[in-house]
Amino acid sequence: MDYHGIFKAAIDRLHDEGRYRVFIDILRTKGSYPNARCFHGHNGPKPITVWCSNDYLGMGQHPAVVAAMEGALHDVGAGSGGTRNIGGNTHYHVDLEAELADLHGKQAALLFTSGYVSNEAALSTLGKLLPGCIIFSDELNHASMIAGIRSSGCEKRVFRHNDLEHLEQLLMEAPAETPKLIAFESVYSMDGDVAPIAAICDLADKYGALTYLDEVHAVGMYGARGGGISEQDEVADRVTIIEGTLGKAFGVMGGYIAADKTIIDCIRSYAPGFIFTTSLSPVLVAGALASVRHLKQSGEERAAQQLGAAALKAKFRDAGLPVMDSVTHIVPLQVGCPVKAKRISDILLAEYGLYVQPINFPTVPRGTERLRFTPGPTHSEAMMDELTKALVEIWDRLELELRKAA
Ligand code: PMP
Repeated sequence: MDYHGIFKAAIDRLHDEGRYRVFIDILRTKGSYPNARCFHGHNGPKPITVWCSNDYLGMGQHPAVVAAMEGALHDVGAGSGGTRNIGGNTHYHVDLEAELADLHGKQAALLFTSGYVSNEAALSTLGKLLPGCIIFSDELNHASMIAGIRSSGCEKRVFRHNDLEHLEQLLMEAPAETPKLIAFESVYSMDGDVAPIAAICDLADKYGALTYLDEVHAVGMYGARGGGISEQDEVADRVTIIEGTLGKAFGVMGGYIAADKTIIDCIRSYAPGFIFTTSLSPVLVAGALASVRHLKQSGEERAAQQLGAAALKAKFRDAGLPVMDSVTHIVPLQVGCPVKAKRISDILLAEYGLYVQPINFPTVPRGTERLRFTPGPTHSEAMMDELTKALVEIWDRLELELRKAA
């Protein structure tokens, strides 16, 4: 058997389709978000501006976060020393879970090593604990939810993205007495649109379903205390389980769910992805705790970020660049071809020192490849003008179509 040949062919397929992933080698520079140094190629390091970070608010470099991490490292050292069950349940973990439960107005919360693991562990376990459960899943749900649903062994019914009629039709078709769970996201990170959470909860009530809401791209970003879209829409109490990450707006690392005590106790007690792994380093947990606390009482970063995102969308639109209809902090530009998306990204980095990663299948459907910009609170007006000008020049050079100004 030519094992090597099989693996090589798999990689060649990605090259042929123009979606072989190249990781850009960078070092972010503390205190100068969104500036970084790039080691890509052999002439580095070279200063660049990062336009695609999911550290949406720059909290990964916030002085309060950095100080909390330094303090924890100094006080307790590097690692947690075990699983939560065997020595790895530090006081930092306990504190952060209480803080997260409070953030979402839930009785309890549970930490995981990432948002991915939260979704995989929670959904697979919920599904296994509910015999015969049918899981209704938005068609654009993240890979981690899809993985959790798959390993739950439950029947899955996929509803068209944010389509309430389709969801209701599928709920109606399912037997009344069957357990049901609706899994969806609040902010869809590649399009920047938002789920109708209240209306989905109405359907859940009507058909006796539980709701599982991924707020990974919304926690820290929306709501008066950063509790996400469910806080902003005042529906957090109607959602059964809220899931979030500590790695994006909170700027650190880790994932969590928040729900009532019994559900959290079940996941804590049954989910292998929670039980059989070393808990997060207390250093990370201390940083996340500082970040969550900061964003609970400060709306300054959120407000600046929203202004920046609106300004960048307007600049792209005025320049005729094909900015997609996003109602959130995410600014996607449609390209529609993996090779072109990569080429634009390569030129931006090599010639302008501007870094945005191309987004290809399977992250987005084929034919909708895009560049996804995430302006932070400290991307200046001048940086946005520089980016817009660079993109227009590249669009011209590659003979891509610019929209006519409205
Ligand atoms: N859910 C969604 C919607 C995501 O986009 C991501 C990460 N891109 C995750 C979950 C996983 O979160 P984490 O990066 O913390 O693993």
